[in-house]
Amino acid sequence: MSSGRATDPQRTGPTEKCGVVGVSLEEREAALPTYYALYALQHRGQESAGIVSHDGFQQHEHVGMGLVGEAFTETDIDTLHGSSGVGHVRYPTAGSVDKSNAQPFTVSFEAGSLALSHNGNLVNTTALRSKLAEKGHAFSSDGDTEVIAHDLARNLLESDLVRAVKATMERLHGSYALTVMHDDTVMGIRDPEGNRPLIIGRIDGGNVIASESAAIDTLGGEVVRDVKPGELVVLAEDGSGFDAYQLLSPDRTANCFFEYVYFARPDSVIDGELVYETRRELGTKLWEEAGVETDVVMPVPDSGRAYASGYQEAAEDVEFAEGLMKNRYVGRTFIMPTQEARERAVRLKLNPIRSTVEDRSVTLIDDSIVRGTTSRQLVDLLRDAGAESVHVRIGAPPITAPCYMGIDMADRDELIAAENDAEGVESAIGADSLAYLSPEAVASAIGTEQSDLCMGCVTGDYPYDIEGETTDRDVTTPVLDR
Ligand code: 5GP
Ligand code: MG
Repeated sequence: MSSGRATDPQRTGPTEKCGVVGVSLEEREAALPTYYALYALQHRGQESAGIVSHDGFQQHEHVGMGLVGEAFTETDIDTLHGSSGVGHVRYPTAGSVDKSNAQPFTVSFEAGSLALSHNGNLVNTTALRSKLAEKGHAFSSDGDTEVIAHDLARNLLESDLVRAVKATMERLHGSYALTVMHDDTVMGIRDPEGNRPLIIGRIDGGNVIASESAAIDTLGGEVVRDVKPGELVVLAEDGSGFDAYQLLSPDRTANCFFEYVYFARPDSVIDGELVYETRRELGTKLWEEAGVETDVVMPVPDSGRAYASGYQEAAEDVEFAEGLMKNRYVGRTFIMPTQEARERAVRLKLNPIRSTVEDRSVTLIDDSIVRGTTSRQLVDLLRDAGAESVHVRIGAPPITAPCYMGIDMADRDELIAAENDAEGVESAIGADSLAYLSPEAVASAIGTEQSDLCMGCVTGDYPYDIEGETTDRDVTTPVLDR
């Protein structure tokens, strides 16, 4: 057994993994493309969806709970006038299913209006908020996005857009991929560590900035390039192009490896890497590091598919088969608030295909083990369906620590690998054998150095200064006095 920690340092505000988009068009209404882009980013958040548009005079806003298709009616879209817009889909986090956390977040102030969509999570929210509160700012939520909005509004009163954004970025510590609308100017901002993805595209009549390239594809557009870590990208109001400003330049990035492993769509390209191919490569490395000869290899649908395909191709002699059928009408199991509900949901979601399983040795491939619920249930399910043995192979290292940067996976006391080593997890999920992938293999499949990735949830060492946690870097925490 490895020594885990039973409780975690307090996290501030809701940690959010979300999808963001910003659209600027020449003359045409931005609401509809923004809405379609949110559909393409639906996997990044299902709790709420919102769009704020600007028609050159004023903002129009609609935010609703649930999926994009539930949050908007045709009439809602029709009322969102203007050729500029930002949109947001928000991921459900434990407990706080709450409209006051829904985004885009808006403020109006003397120098105009702001609308912000944020993916990621700051780790210095509390300090920033109290500094701003001293200066007379009043806050309506406990979230970090409101803090960014107030800081930026304050700086915009004193200087031009680029300088104001830079001054705000210098005060933020943590993870942020933002689409921001200042009056009808749409921009994208990516934190200096590039923790969350953000990409620029060219669409008919204008430009778009989105969390993932799949949103640009959906709009029939073309990817221009990623927003660079530490960069501000300002879209031209006439839809013609954009200006880019490298405002902060870190010596290392901290890209979230979990975007590649699980979170992003497989058809998205992040920082030049097609996620599907990265996952296949992870599968290949899984065979090389921990392959086991069984009669058949099968994925946990859908998240294990690309892995199993890469694994099986490398294995050659192991047959690939679908052994589990997914009921596509059941939502993601993580939405379920209690452990009991989550366990029931796995049975609702997946059913074995007897003929591929019965009397055979099986390798079951998934991307990750978080609480262990999925693996335990599926091992049981395959045994009930007559599997001779069930070997589990996981395309990521053990998740042993929480995420403070926007992937709200679980706390240490819920993470099965926080207290158990691989053998412990193997017996807890009832597998004949279990193996994970090494962090080195993950970095190599992504095509980067491990030191340029954020793997805090694996190593417990974070690329940020987080109270109560350790960091693997020489981090300079922003000085907030000025
Ligand atoms: P577990 O059942 O061990 O708690 O979670 C592992 C399963 O959940 C894997 O099948 C993985 O694909 C999926 N998963 C991993 N991280 C997340 C997450 O943040 N949200 C959701 N919905 N699923 C996740
Ligand atoms: Mg899964």
